[in-house]
Amino acid sequence: VVSGQKIWISTARVANKVLLLARTTPLDKVKKKTDGLSLFYTDFDRKKIEVREIPKMGRHAVDSNMVYFDNVEIPATDLIGREGDGFKQILHGMNPERILVAAEAIGIGRAALGKASKYARERVVFGRPIGQNQGIQHPLAQAWMQLEAANLMVYKAATLYDKGEECGVESNAAKYLAGEAAFHACQTAMMSMGGMGFAKEYHVERYLRESFIPRIAPISPHLIMNYIAERVLDLPRSY
Ligand SMILES: Cc1cc2nc3c(=O)[nH]c(=O)nc-3n(C[C@H](O)[C@H](O)[C@H](O)COP(=O)(O)OP(=O)(O)OC[C@H]3O[C@@H](n4cnc5c(N)ncnc54)[C@H](O)[C@@H]3O)c2cc1C
Repeated sequence: VVSGQKIWISTARVANKVLLLARTTPLDKVKKKTDGLSLFYTDFDRKKIEVREIPKMGRHAVDSNMVYFDNVEIPATDLIGREGDGFKQILHGMNPERILVAAEAIGIGRAALGKASKYARERVVFGRPIGQNQGIQHPLAQAWMQLEAANLMVYKAATLYDKGEECGVESNAAKYLAGEAAFHACQTAMMSMGGMGFAKEYHVERYLRESFIPRIAPISPHLIMNYIAERVLDLPRSY
């Protein structure tokens, strides 16, 4: 019987099923906080689970929601794997999710740079295309290099994952680098296009809005820096 709430649940307005991590052994009866959680794949019955949609600035292709479980019964047959081992199981999905979101960020950044470069080639001011000015060229070139360097980390993480090797550090680093590079590329593209960067017709304003998602989710840049500082550089834990 599950009670609890969670914010930012994608597609809860349309989903038929939910992957749910719930505490099944109380905190005072486990050695580690991550023990005693169990994973379920169960029916998402909106008659029993309350869903409230969150109005938001982008990512309109999917709904985002707050969900509330109040004594919702879940059959034991919907348990995935072993009771109490849910956290270890859900970790398997977290690295590929980071790699996927990083790759998405690279795509958004490349799309923005493509639009800005085209604009800079075609837009003529005072008798010459604005793209002939190094003040326009350099920021775009810099954004391209940052994006492609981040993409190498995405491929490194994906290669390790495909080989079944440990890839937590690389997946987190890829998500961080790609998210930041994409945001920078979108912002640079927008500023290179002047007023037209702001116009919906050119889509760059939309890419800029979308670039915030791979920065914020599924883990924030700050928590990735904590992870790298503590797991790679062996600095004292912040929690
Ligand atoms: C559009 C969208 C869709 C999403 N979809 C899903 C989904 O489907 N499923 C799901 O589970 N989640 C989803 N999320 C949630 C997302 O993963 C979280 O919003 C994200 O991980 C940040 O957590 P938070 O919002 O709880 O931030 P908070 O924990 O409230 O943190 C606020 C800020 O403080 C910073 N901060 C916190 N602690 C520290 C620290 N120790 N040091 C430095 N800075 C710190 C954070 O980095 C962040 O910038 C979605 C979010 C969005 C915006």
